[in-house]
Amino acid sequence: MIPREIPNLVGGQAVPAASGESLEKLRPTDETLLCRVARSRVEDVASAVAAARAAQPGWAERTAVERGDIVRELALLLRDRREEASAIVAEETGKPLELALGETDASVEMGLFVAGEGRRSYGRTTTASMAHRTVLTVRQPLGIAALIMSFNTPLPNVAWKAFPAIFCGNAAVLKPSEHTPASAWLFGGLAREAGVPDGVLNIVHGLGSEAGAPLVEHADVDLVSFTGSAATGRWINETAGRRLAKVCLELGGKNALVVCDDAELDSAVRWALASAFSNAGQRCASASRLVVFDDVYDAFRDRLLAGVRDLEPQPVISRESVERISEAVGRATQQGATMLVGGDRLERPGWYFAPTVLEDAAVDAEISRTELFGPVTVLYRVGDLEQAIALVNDSPYGLTAAIHTASVHRAMRFAERAQAGVVVVNAGTHGSEPHMGFGGVKDSGTGWREAGVEALDVYSDLKVVNLVADPMRT
Ligand code: NAD
Repeated sequence: MIPREIPNLVGGQAVPAASGESLEKLRPTDETLLCRVARSRVEDVASAVAAARAAQPGWAERTAVERGDIVRELALLLRDRREEASAIVAEETGKPLELALGETDASVEMGLFVAGEGRRSYGRTTTASMAHRTVLTVRQPLGIAALIMSFNTPLPNVAWKAFPAIFCGNAAVLKPSEHTPASAWLFGGLAREAGVPDGVLNIVHGLGSEAGAPLVEHADVDLVSFTGSAATGRWINETAGRRLAKVCLELGGKNALVVCDDAELDSAVRWALASAFSNAGQRCASASRLVVFDDVYDAFRDRLLAGVRDLEPQPVISRESVERISEAVGRATQQGATMLVGGDRLERPGWYFAPTVLEDAAVDAEISRTELFGPVTVLYRVGDLEQAIALVNDSPYGLTAAIHTASVHRAMRFAERAQAGVVVVNAGTHGSEPHMGFGGVKDSGTGWREAGVEALDVYSDLKVVNLVADPMRT
């Protein structure tokens, strides 16, 4: 199912890295070798960008309906290969198959949603001061889109970018995470089968510093669309911004879930567990802060800890990750936080860290402000809604936020005041679907939204067209 050597995809050809070098990809569940992956560098990036440049004009000539049809075909092929795609994701990430199946289904849905835009792609018509003049907007492709992404939900991460990027008439160079090359490889194969012309979707594997950075720096790349950490995003914005390339960043979060004293506690506990620990906390929308009203704090904490003890641990993506999380949790307790459950690497093969809950952390402590991207959450005690909102907003990030309350007033006040791109009432710190724009404020992004029709704004330019119908009478 997964080849022993995963090659790049350049101009429709499966090719090894120019240097002939490859990287080892290990399984998170037991650290055994899953496959080897092309270790690309600047020359591989240059070939992929050249292939994209050659293919893009012909692709842009196709109508939006035709491009939508090919996107639909690709989504349907992915649906046909649902079990295989999900098994690949489960192997390369270590996540349960059930979770992977849900992610494959979401990726298919994203493709079908984008395909439908082929018969919409609405612009605007407007008035003009001059007689006999019609003014309208049309969408134009940007040219070459560099798509760089994280490992956490590898297929949706690819689908959320590749489908709208190519639909809009761009040619793309995709740089998947070095931790999840296999699902991207499958996607590339399906794209060819679906009729995506050679060179329209290229894939360059490798490390961020060796394959990602040259792609960001390449003068012929018109757009960089990136999903990953704020640190990398900041560098990308500076680097691509210098040549005024368009940059869309979807970055991290330190998402808070608030539990008020009128919340359904069992439901709040269930959502807190799912929000904090699903996918081993490796979600940009993970609830790494649980902000609980004083009156229900003890009851919520007891039920939460009981739930955590029943969780089946999932591995994180790499040895570096498990070590980084372990060190950060160690520093948190040294700085005064109290460990309630977990806190250690599990003694078994693979990269497992016990689901962990802390309390008594200072609001300005590292653990309160830094994203860990692991199965770790922190409880905070507040007196009322205004304190809760102030705490939620006291963060460099602003991706998602949730509140559990029976009060419409509290829900609406929170929805208005929480500094976040997504607010959820009475559920988890997520809830986005392919037709909903997703993204954050502050250090969580640059204001663009992925998915939804909003994604079309990332991958196209709007051109204003003035039509004068009767030049003799103006
Ligand atoms: P990362 O920034 O380390 O890597 C992301 C991607 O960028 C990888 O493909 C990597 O190889 C590449 N990369 C690294 N350095 C690069 C460079 N200098 N130039 C170009 N590319 C480079 O992030 P990660 O550890 O893979 O992912 C975790 C982060 O992603 C978290 O912060 C998480 O919150 C965020 N994330 C955000 C969203 C969202 O939609 N907002 C979704 C998923 C993950």
